[in-house]
Amino acid sequence: MDDALKTSRKRKKVVLLGSTGSIGRSTLEVAKQLPEWIELVGLAANGSVEVLAAQARETGVRHVALYDVSKLGELRALLPSGVEVFAGPTGLAELAALEGADMVLVAIVGTAGLGPALAAIEAGKDLAVASKEILVMAGGVVTAAAERKGVKLLPVDSEHNAIFQCLDGHRGGPDEVSRLVLTASGGPFRTWPTKRLAEVTLAQALKHPTWEMGRKITIDSATLFNKGLEMIEARWLFGIGMERIDVIVHPQSIVHSMVEFVDGSVLAQLSRTDMCFPIQYALTWPERIAGGLRPLNFAELAKLEFEAPRREDFPALDLASQAGLVGGTLPAVFNAANEVAVDAFVEGRIAFPDIWRVVGETMAAHDVGPASTLEEIIDADAWARARACGVCAG
Ligand code: NDP
Repeated sequence: MDDALKTSRKRKKVVLLGSTGSIGRSTLEVAKQLPEWIELVGLAANGSVEVLAAQARETGVRHVALYDVSKLGELRALLPSGVEVFAGPTGLAELAALEGADMVLVAIVGTAGLGPALAAIEAGKDLAVASKEILVMAGGVVTAAAERKGVKLLPVDSEHNAIFQCLDGHRGGPDEVSRLVLTASGGPFRTWPTKRLAEVTLAQALKHPTWEMGRKITIDSATLFNKGLEMIEARWLFGIGMERIDVIVHPQSIVHSMVEFVDGSVLAQLSRTDMCFPIQYALTWPERIAGGLRPLNFAELAKLEFEAPRREDFPALDLASQAGLVGGTLPAVFNAANEVAVDAFVEGRIAFPDIWRVVGETMAAHDVGPASTLEEIIDADAWARARACGVCAG
């Protein structure tokens, strides 16, 4: 691109929520590679004040937010002068609505990103979504708000970004699509016999075969709850019925997902296992930009394998299908119970297969209601957390 064009085009101003995490750090890398396209204008984290302050110095942002208000003093002491600090959940929402920002990338683990995501939409910002939990919990509310405000929801998750790329520029939308096929690595226990799953340790569950990610999503990948969450996320992002969302295990994680069209053709998106690919596409969409990302070398790829998931041994997929098909408050319950169960497993209070049991029992005990308001969803989430805690303790 010539220099005149570079300086005349408007850089996308991006607020990054969850900047200190795995997705957050990859987003900083992408922004660093594309300074004439992306300008970070705000960063937020929970409590990692040293990393957050270092990131603020490196990027030169003038606005940061911290969820954990007990660490505000520590953060202020580390920040360069003149940086405005927003505090707590309301501070995160204020940062998400920052004047002048074009887009907010939500990469906060769990459901704490929901409030800021809605604040960003209300302020008319496009939303790049990494935090799948918020769409699982409140997909109807989030997509309705985005439609009402005319803002774009851009998927950052590699599978949904792959589908988005396969559908991009396509005329017919859902009528021409017969199936979405999400690929799953299968996690570290893909080939383990069923009996051994009861012996899984935390260290084993935290060793993902192909991706480097935060703790929660790594455990979710080992149980296949991650894929279950993604099935429901896909339903909202692409407006496709749950019955048309399939999962196939692909251990190499090179094909990131596929779209099967009604004429029988299948489009797939492939790249190396590096989250910078989907992050860059979400940030620069609708354009494709030459960044620093190395393409695939097909001659070096030994093989691409596909196999059916072991649904009976890894019941997360069936629980997700059930939650997505029934709808209402059940997906929020599915998500919240999983968060509680993952915490309990990480803290050594339950065994690995209990994660499925806790979610299943919590869902079975739930009296499903409508999820048309945030209040209904938050109530269901709170109910599920309490119930799942009881199941873990019992
Ligand atoms: P990490 O655990 O690595 O990072 C989580 C981030 O969220 C940190 O910046 C953390 O801040 C911040 N955070 C946690 N709680 C709060 C809070 N209450 N308020 C503000 N910030 C908070 O997670 P990942 O980056 O792996 O995942 C983030 C999200 O992206 C998840 O929803 C995950 O499912 C999704 N995702 C991740 C992928 C990956 O490759 N990692 C791929 C696709 C989706 P602090 O450091 O201060 O605790």
